[in-house]
Amino acid sequence: MDFKLYVRDIEDFPSKGITFKDITPLLKDAGALQQTTKALLELVGDAKVDKVVGMESRGFFFASLLASQLNAGFVPVRKQGKLPGDTIGQTYALEYGSDTLEVHKDAILEGERVLVHDDVLATGGTAKATCELVERLGGVVVQCNFLIELDFLRGREKISNYQVRSLLNY
Ligand code: IMP
Repeated sequence: MDFKLYVRDIEDFPSKGITFKDITPLLKDAGALQQTTKALLELVGDAKVDKVVGMESRGFFFASLLASQLNAGFVPVRKQGKLPGDTIGQTYALEYGSDTLEVHKDAILEGERVLVHDDVLATGGTAKATCELVERLGGVVVQCNFLIELDFLRGREKISNYQVRSLLNY
């Protein structure tokens, strides 16, 4: 299946000059949704996974589908102030300013093997902060897994100490 046929470019979103990769055409197609999940699972291979961590909000879609297929739990990483329980936070730099991601303190146990999934790897700041949260809770990142990698932003370099796998490269 040519998955790229189901990813559309939206110009000037969320702000002028940005071309946004929109995966909703892929999500709404039953066959593409199923085949994408299968292909992302193949990137994981035989690795044993206890938890799949997905990043707010588009990371949640496939992270939970992968968790279900891998017989693993799903853990949301969210923007500051969204999770109701006790959290730890990790702040990371943006082009202008900074952002903070949070995870529940009890979401991952010491030594658990964690698959990190997001829809898009851009500059890598989100993925790096997420891996740091996982490790602060004692988890072991077995792979950073993405549907889309924007090669020209070189996010992979920021998370070069982890195994990084992407389904679609642009
Ligand atoms: P990074 O931290 O720069 O790697 O940005 C990755 C985060 O921004 C991910 O959580 C993505 O969901 C989001 N993101 C960045 N670019 C796009 C895009 O073109 N389409 C959808 N999400 C994007």
